[in-house]
Parts: sequence; structure tokens; C-alpha cells
Amino acid sequence: MTTPPAAGFDVGGTNIRAEVIGSAALPATVTRRRIRPPSMDGIVDAICEMVGAIEDEDSHGVAAVGVGCAGLVNRSGSVATSPNIPAIRDFPLRAMLAERLGRPVAVDNDATAALRAEMACGAAAGVANALLATFGTGIGAALALDGEIRRGADGLAGEAGHMIVAPGGPECLCGRRGCWEQLASGEALGRAARDAARAGKAPALAERVGGRLADIRGEHVGELAAAGDPVARRLLSEFAGWVALGLNNLILLLSPEVVVLGGGLSELGEVLLAPVRDALEEVYLEHRQRTPVGLRVAQYGDRAGAIGAALLARDLLETPEVHSRAMRAR
Ligand SMILES: [Zn+2]
Repeated sequence: MTTPPAAGFDVGGTNIRAEVIGSAALPATVTRRRIRPPSMDGIVDAICEMVGAIEDEDSHGVAAVGVGCAGLVNRSGSVATSPNIPAIRDFPLRAMLAERLGRPVAVDNDATAALRAEMACGAAAGVANALLATFGTGIGAALALDGEIRRGADGLAGEAGHMIVAPGGPECLCGRRGCWEQLASGEALGRAARDAARAGKAPALAERVGGRLADIRGEHVGELAAAGDPVARRLLSEFAGWVALGLNNLILLLSPEVVVLGGGLSELGEVLLAPVRDALEEVYLEHRQRTPVGLRVAQYGDRAGAIGAALLARDLLETPEVHSRAMRAR
């Protein structure tokens, strides 16, 4: 019995990315659609149109659809809020798509979808206990224990970005202070670098952006640190300390074999991994008594969410009764 193709979508702030998982190797196709301005109906329409376009090109059809979306996604596939898409509020995305498309639909948090992809064929392949953390505008996280992705009571497990690591620290969009993502996200590194440049303490960074200090991003710090700039190295090392502090808390709680770092900043590779590894070595309690934790960068980068969403959709088909219903409907 071969499994028919499943399509996965990653809904972001400005566009929707699609990947198709065929019955053989993965992934098969990539398309993108801009959504502007993003609205709840607009997202549903765009995904339905993209499914239609994929089916026009592939006679095998699309048997199931998966969606990864940033934000608070509960177990019924509703998105309560999404940081990059203000139009989203209590959005029953799974129910709306299932009704329009008439086939099995999975909707999950984008980090959870990315972890599914990294476990299937990426940086956490063959790993039963894995933690994925994405460092971008904020911090997203997902976890697998004993070979299973874990979602918690209401599906909201992994909101690690709002663990408080510095009481009284910088204010967070969630209304509290000192959340991990205010100190350890890609945006936090960019902000620290902009502050240093505005204080006249980071001449190489200022030069890198042609004096437009507002354009300084975390990636610039990584780039200059790799080139040996002492200010960038110090900024990256302080930042790595905050990353390691949060990771250490998660490692103590979950005991993963592998921690996968994703998000835009993970593209820095070893430039980011090395200082995080050093900082983790300093804060990591009991590390001599534990299996060493593998620290890796995500393999699929910004494709992971859509690939993982397609895999989550295919997981639905592999549930026997759903599979037979989907096959009958074809
Ligand atoms: Zn917060």
C-alpha cells in the first residue's frame, strides 16, 4: 500500500510556502504565494488555490494537507494569536480548511512542524529525544520525548521564548519582563548590536551597514565575529550566554540527546554553535553525569516548516481509518 502525496504549507507574515511529499523520496515540489495583506480568509483561500495548482500539475492528487503556522496553535488546529500576523485571532484554520478541501488536514505550530521534518530526515534523524529551538524575531521551540512529538495539555507546549530568564529585564510583547526571547532571539542580538553602534562602540558594524544603524541585524554580528572583529565577538559571546542559559534550563527539564538550533540565525552555523557550546559547557549542571547533548543546526532551514507540515499530514493518512476514508474519496 503506497501513501498518496501530501502537501505542506508554512504560513508566514508575508508569504505561504508549499512543499509536496510524494510517495517516494522527499520533498517533491516547492511553490510560494505572497499574501498581502494577510487576513484569515485570505490565508484559507490561498492554501486552497495552491492545493488546486499542485493537483493540476500532479495526477496523483493531494490526499492530505498540513499547515505550520507561527503562534499559539491548539490541539484542534485553531490559531489563537500569531506574532507576525496581527489579523489572526481565534482562527479555526484546521476546521475551515477541512471543510473547504474535504480531506484530512493537520495544523500545528511551525516549530513543531520543523521538528517533524528534522526528525524524519534532518538534524534529528533517528533521535528519540530532541529539542528544536528557532532563533528569529522571537524564539519558538518544540520537543520530542521517547520518539514522540509532545504537545502538552492544550497543544501549547514549547512556548520557551517566554520563560523568564532575567526578572526585571527588557520588556516583552507578552507584557512581562526578562523573557528568554528578549535576550536570546535573533532580534535581541540585533538590538544589542544597534545599541552598541549608537553608543559609538561598534565602528565595524556601523561601517558594514553604511552608517544606517537601524539596518544592523543579528546576522551582521555573526558575519563580523567570523571575520575577527572584537566588538562583534564580544556581542556574540554575551548573546551565546543567554542562549545557553535558556537551553540549559530546557536540557535539565527534558534531557534531550540532540538540540537543533533553527531560525534565521542558525544559518551562521559554527559561528553561532561554537560560543553557545562554550557557554553551555559553563552553565550546564551535572554534565559529566549525563549523555553529552549534541548541538546541531537545522538542516532544512526555512523549508522545514512546510516539509514537516506535509509529514504531519501524511501521518494522518497512516492512521488506518483516515487512510481508508481518504482513499475512498479519491
Ligand atoms: Zn514574553
